[in-house]
Amino acid sequence: MKIAVLPGDGIGTEIVAEAIRVLDALDLQFEMETALVGGAAYEAHGHPLPEATLKLAKESDAVLFGAVGDWKYDKLDRPLRPEQAILGLRKNLGLFANFRPAICYEQLVGASSLKPELISGLDILIIRELTGDIYFGQPRGRRTAVDGHFPGAEEAFDTMRYSRPEVERIAHVAFQAARKRSKRVTSVDKANVLETFQFWKDIVTEVGKEYPDVELDHMYVDNAAMQLVKAPKKFDVVVTGNMFGDILSDEAAMLTGSIGMLPSASLNSSNQGLYEPSHGSAPDIAGQGVANPLATILSAAMMLRFSLNQPEAADRIESAVKSVLASGLRTGDIWSEGTKRVGTREMGDAVVAAITKKTITG
Ligand code: NAD
Repeated sequence: MKIAVLPGDGIGTEIVAEAIRVLDALDLQFEMETALVGGAAYEAHGHPLPEATLKLAKESDAVLFGAVGDWKYDKLDRPLRPEQAILGLRKNLGLFANFRPAICYEQLVGASSLKPELISGLDILIIRELTGDIYFGQPRGRRTAVDGHFPGAEEAFDTMRYSRPEVERIAHVAFQAARKRSKRVTSVDKANVLETFQFWKDIVTEVGKEYPDVELDHMYVDNAAMQLVKAPKKFDVVVTGNMFGDILSDEAAMLTGSIGMLPSASLNSSNQGLYEPSHGSAPDIAGQGVANPLATILSAAMMLRFSLNQPEAADRIESAVKSVLASGLRTGDIWSEGTKRVGTREMGDAVVAAITKKTITG
């Protein structure tokens, strides 16, 4: 089992270090190799996704990714910005399905801005298509850009597009995921206004006929955004396009109180995957040792389950995280009165201790 470790920028290095300690504590045989990505790679090699990093990612079974980006790179030409590394990895590895679970841990119900009864027991899965939509349309007006901006330009545009195979394969992923859960899929679109999303809706409906045991409904994206805060537990699996998925998955993440808790997985058709926390590089707290490493640790658990075929090891990490939360330890982002505030390293220590204890007691 080979893992490419790409910590990236900001808090990326701090949180990935803890996830690696947790993986080490499992006593499984992994080959792990680290490489630069994002701003760190730009500084060293002049490109956010150097050839050597891409090669390592391609020849690994999975990529464990921290986060990339910093405001200081905002003036770079778009292809050189740290965030382009993620798009490059998705494209080159063919990662088309992004899984973002939003689970509300019972101990953190109070950390949400929503009423406890609305989110207690919440467990939804947002599946976002990653390779199509407006992010990959042509053209992007880049020809007239100066330092990433458009001085004096009269217009700029991005085109939205999806192909039939792209919609079909993400629809299959959603229906199959729903079969392992409560057999409900909500497909989110904007078919009332956008041709691309009428096309999306038609194809999801067609694919749905192959899964008669799964209930399918359709919802416009504006309504979905409202329902997510009004009655989030109505949802189970939500499948949507690249841009709506980007926005709704962040909204769903915040239902649970902290983005520092939420993992994500991006998979290709051979289950090779990139695993990363749902949050960014948090330049505001980088280097302070206060970032929450749990989203990255839980991403490592998803990696074990989806790409490395080690579901029991994934379960061990997830129960260790639950027991650490039950013991009252909290990083600053999820801290509340009556709990104990700890830093990144101490949180990692606690998860490692919970895993090792489980191993000893069997
Ligand atoms: P962010 O997710 O980095 O931070 C948003 C807020 O959440 C900040 O206040 C931050 O301190 C807090 N936060 C995030 N993760 C946390 C954690 N683990 N523990 C505690 N608090 C945490 O989003 P942003 O500030 O909009 O973006 C910062 C940089 O990250 C930008 O350059 C952006 O482009 C980049 N970014 C990268 C990714 C990625 O690498 N996948 C994703 C989103 C944003």
